Order: sequence, then C-alpha cells, then structure tokens
Amino acid sequence: MTFIRTIKGTQDILPGQSHRWQALETTIRNIMDRYGYKEIRTPVFERTELFARGIGEETDIVSKEMYSWTDQGGENLTLKPELTAPVVRSFIQHNLGGQSPINKLYYIDALFRRERPQKGRYRQFHQFGIEAFGSEHPEIDAEVIALAMALFSNIGLTGLTLKLNSIGSPECRRNYRNAIRDFLTPHFDELSETSRNRFEKNPLRILDTKIPHEIEILNDGPNVSDSWTEEDKTHFNEVCALLDAMGIQYELALRLVRGLDYYTRTTFEITSTALGAQDAICGGGRYDGLVETLGGKPTPGIGFAAGMERILLALGEESSSSSTNQVYIVGLGDAVRPTVLELAENLRRNNVATEFDTLRRSMKAQMREANKAGVKYAILIGDQELASGQAEVKDLSTGDQQKIALDALVAHINSLPF
Ligand code: ATP
Ligand code: MG
Repeated sequence: MTFIRTIKGTQDILPGQSHRWQALETTIRNIMDRYGYKEIRTPVFERTELFARGIGEETDIVSKEMYSWTDQGGENLTLKPELTAPVVRSFIQHNLGGQSPINKLYYIDALFRRERPQKGRYRQFHQFGIEAFGSEHPEIDAEVIALAMALFSNIGLTGLTLKLNSIGSPECRRNYRNAIRDFLTPHFDELSETSRNRFEKNPLRILDTKIPHEIEILNDGPNVSDSWTEEDKTHFNEVCALLDAMGIQYELALRLVRGLDYYTRTTFEITSTALGAQDAICGGGRYDGLVETLGGKPTPGIGFAAGMERILLALGEESSSSSTNQVYIVGLGDAVRPTVLELAENLRRNNVATEFDTLRRSMKAQMREANKAGVKYAILIGDQELASGQAEVKDLSTGDQQKIALDALVAHINSLPF
C-alpha cells in the first residue's frame, strides 16, 4: 500500500526539531511578559469577508493565496492567512477598547497561504506578532520596534537590519499615489503586466517590484517623504528620536511600502543577513484605519508579524541535545518489572524525568540506551538487588556506583546534582 504524505508546502516538526520551536516560543513569551503584552488566540478559520475587507482585495494574499471554501451551510470560509484582521475582529467583537484605553496583544500561530513553496516560503507557516491598540503617539511605535529588536537579539539572531519608513497619513498616501502615477505615466509601456495592473488600482504596490529594470526606473521616482504632511513629518521624527534614545539603530527606507492597504505612517521591516532571497523575518507598522474599516470605533493600532520558520533557518542548527531525561532505570529479569515501574512512577511524581526500557532488552542494550539518552544517572535493578532491597545508582559521567535502599531512592536521587 502506498502511504500518504504531507501536502506540498507543509511540514512536520519532528521530535528532533520541536525543542527548537519550544525554545523560541519560550523566549517570545518571556519577552512579551517583560513588555506587558498579553496573548490572544483566535480560531483557525474565519469568514472570507473578514480578510477581503481587512487585507484588501488587490493584495497577493486575498487575490491568489487564500485557502477558501464554502461549507455545508453555504458560508464562505477561509483558513487564516494572517493574524491582524482576526485580532482586530476579536478586539471589536469583545469591546476590548471599551475596557481599557490601551490593549497590547500578542499571538503565536499557524497561517495558511497558497504560495509557491521554496526555502523559507511555505503554505502552512508560523508567525508570532503583536498588535497594540489605542495610542497614535510615537512612544508606542518605538516600544513595538524595540520589542521586536530585543526579541531577535535575545534569541541570538545576528546581522539584523531595521528598515524604517513612514507611509504617512491617508492624505499623504493619496498624494504619493498620484505622484507615483504621474512619474510612471511616461514609462507605462516599459512596465510588466503586473505593474500595469497595479498602476490604476494600487500604484504603491509597484514599489514592491523585484524586476531589475522596474527598480531602475523607480530609482529616480518620488519619495514618500515628499508627500508627508507636517504632522506625518513630526510623527516620524519623534519615532526616530525615541529609537535614538533607546540606542536602536535603523536605516531609512523611503521606498518601503507594505503590501497591505490599511497601513498608515510608521512602516518597518527587519531583515537578517543569515537568510538568502527570503531575507525578511519581520514586517510591521501602523494601521490607524483598520479598526474602523472592520466596523469598530476609530482606534489607532500598530503591530508586527515575524515568520518563525525563517527565524529558525537564520539561527541555523544548534548542537544542544533535546534530551531532558535525568535518570534511566535498567531492570533485569521478569521479577523486577513491577518495581521498575513503581520506582519510575515515584521519581516522575517527584519531578525527576525518568526513562526505562519497554522492549525487554538485555542489560547491555539498556545501558547503551541510557548513555544515548544522555542521562546523568542509571539505576540498576536485578533479582539480587530486589532480594537485598537495594539498587545500584551509577553516575554515568564518572562511573561511580553506590548501593541505595529501594525505599530511599527517590530522596537520594532528588539530593543528587544534575
Ligand atoms: P514576503 O514579501 O516574504 O512574501 P509578506 O509581505 O507576505 O512577505 P507578511 O505578510 O508581512 O509577509 O508576513 C510577515 C513575515 O512572515 C515575513 O516577514 C516572513 O518572515 C513570514 N512569511 C510570510 N509569508 C511566508 C511564507 N509563505 N512562509 C514562511 N514565512 C512567511
Ligand atoms: Mg508574501
């Protein structure tokens, strides 16, 4: 019989890898606590309309990457391709804004996008991110960016670059859109079909192009800073000053516009030199218009999302062992089995990570397992030990061996250094 494989672009996280994910998740939770962000969890699927409205019909995500279906009741549903729209939905639905003027939320979650799979690009992938609702002021922009940078340096990522821009207020966006159109009009025939399609609907997205000759044309194009209002300029300068005060370095990236329509003002991206073509590990920014777009009271918001697979790729394989076992019980003979299990259960109830053999292997094979498992101590019990009411406790690093009474074993093991 043939066996069934994973779907293209999805992957299993195997036991040899899961400890890396757990370590990353632990760091994320610690840093979130330190900065005062609380976890929010939303369903795996939502109404398709939420993403169409929240992300924008013209984006790659909504126009071609969503896993959508109509269920038996005729509802149009979609596996979540990003978390901002679901978190905003939840924020509105539960009136979190009414309960507190500031809501600082984070998530760690799996997302689904039908992309062309390649290294660092999958169809099911994971992100963590934050969304901070309630403040329009630069202080929160600076805190969000500082949190991202602290987190990445805490997990040991190097070669990080923070690229910073402001896409301005809606008024600035409008002006900039027109400036881009005016500038590109004489070049229209040189543009790719994709860019020509974007020209009318969403010309800012032409700036996302990866095509060399389009990048060259755009090099002489207008910068968004030319379209900033006075307030946009002040806001951006304050964000920069606060980052300076915190000692956080950044590069100005005046062409950095995000693919999503709801972004306003601060926009940023963090890249790592440890990655190849897919070098962005984190993208974020302000979305002051989104809560209202999704039917809530106008509420400013800012957040970021970071790709976890890419972070783990950038970190590379580390050698640390995934074993957490402390003790291995080596039992020999049929008669000792109940004692082995009783002892293992007692140790485990007393917080000692304990392993024993369930394959009825020879003593030699069990000792080999104990060494492979990387435990510090082996407890040896055979018929003789059972009769004398004592077991041998062997320190596998030194080879030292000690006889300990069976009823004193748990206390003894607990007194040992690990
Ligand atoms: P890209 O330009 O790489 O497609 P994006 O603009 O679609 O990124 P966002 O939606 O902002 O990315 O998501 C934030 C982060 O999530 C990215 O910086 C990246 O690290 C990660 N990410 C996005 N899409 C994928 C994917 N298909 N597989 C793995 N990670 C992804
Ligand atoms: Mg993408």
